[in-house]
Amino acid sequence: MAVRKIIRMGHPTLRKVARELSTDELNSGLVRQLVADMVDTLEDYQGVGLAAPQVNESIRLAIIEIEGGETRYGHLDALPLTVFANPYYEVLDPSTAGAWEGCLSVPGLRGYVERPQSIRIKYQDLEGKPHQLELQGFMATVFQHEFDHLDGLLYLDRMTDMTKLFYEEELARYS
Ligand code: ZN
Repeated sequence: MAVRKIIRMGHPTLRKVARELSTDELNSGLVRQLVADMVDTLEDYQGVGLAAPQVNESIRLAIIEIEGGETRYGHLDALPLTVFANPYYEVLDPSTAGAWEGCLSVPGLRGYVERPQSIRIKYQDLEGKPHQLELQGFMATVFQHEFDHLDGLLYLDRMTDMTKLFYEEELARYS
């Protein structure tokens, strides 16, 4: 078990556009070890997603795991822990909905972000095999948040109303 340190807003790696991985790299022991560490880290920090730049690796790799069931975001389908290599998303329908987002690299804060709710993602698995997936609703929000990390973006950059940036305690108290 190797829990990595999650870097926080202000660290320059979070603002870089991460580079793509070659199929050889995806198959390498180095990437396998990184993924194993990211899984341990995500579990330790109890997040739903983690992008490689958050552990100071500027490469296009993210993991997401959604428990599913009834949540504060409504009913969600479960997504078992999945590795997304070289992922991109395209917006299928630009109409947006808002959600309170948090980020392990911006601890303690929540911000209200409006994002498109229908996207298509393309990615590779660790064997280099291509996949695509269409996502709706809050799932679309989660994926956009994680994949934005690979382009050096944080959810704060997507906010249009900065009065809706709260500390978690105040959000629980006043909203
Ligand atoms: Zn994040």
